[in-house]
Amino acid sequence: MLSSLLLAAALTGGPLADPAGVWPLAPTSVVRGFEAPPSPYAAGHRGVDLDGSAGQTVRSAVAGTITFAGSVAGRGVVVVSLGDGRRTTYEPVVADVVRGDEVTAGAPLGSLSGAGSHCAPSACLHWGLVDASSGSDVYLDPLSLLGVVRVRLLPWGGSADGAWSPAVSPVGASRPDALPWSAWRWTG
Ligand SMILES: [Zn+2]
Repeated sequence: MLSSLLLAAALTGGPLADPAGVWPLAPTSVVRGFEAPPSPYAAGHRGVDLDGSAGQTVRSAVAGTITFAGSVAGRGVVVVSLGDGRRTTYEPVVADVVRGDEVTAGAPLGSLSGAGSHCAPSACLHWGLVDASSGSDVYLDPLSLLGVVRVRLLPWGGSADGAWSPAVSPVGASRPDALPWSAWRWTG
C-alpha cells in the first residue's frame, strides 16, 4: 500500500516569463493530461481536462485581456490573452465576461457548463495554453502556468498512458517527468 505524500515541484518557466498562474477550478483534479500531437494535424489533447461540476466558477489562470467570449460550435469558449503572444482557453464556459475585459489571475470568467464536456456525461473544464509568439500556434501544457505547485502523489498503477512525456514539457521546464498526470491535484 503506497502512502500519499506531498512534495514541492518547482517548475521553471519556458523561454517566456512564468506568470505564476492559479488553478481555473478549485477544487479539481486533472482527469486527462496534455498530449502533444506528433504533428500539427494529428490527434492529441491540446490542453488538460479538470474535473468539476456544472455551475462551478471558472477563474482565469493568469492576468490578461479577454480576447474572445462566445460560442464555438455550440460550446462556450473564453480566451484570455497574456499580452506576450500567449493565450489561455477555457471551455465549456457560460461567460460572465466580454471581449476587452481585463482580468487578474483568479478572476471569475463564468461558470462551468455541463454540456459540451470532453468528459461527458461528467462535467470538466478543457483548459488550453497556446503560444503564438512565433507567428503560428504552438500548444503547450497549461499546467506549466502554475509555477510552483504542490503535488500530491497518489497510488498509481503505472500505465504508460498516464505518464508525463518529456515531449510535452515546455522548453527549459524541470517538470518531474516521472510523475503521472493523475498525480496532479489541486491542493488549495
Ligand atoms: Zn480536453
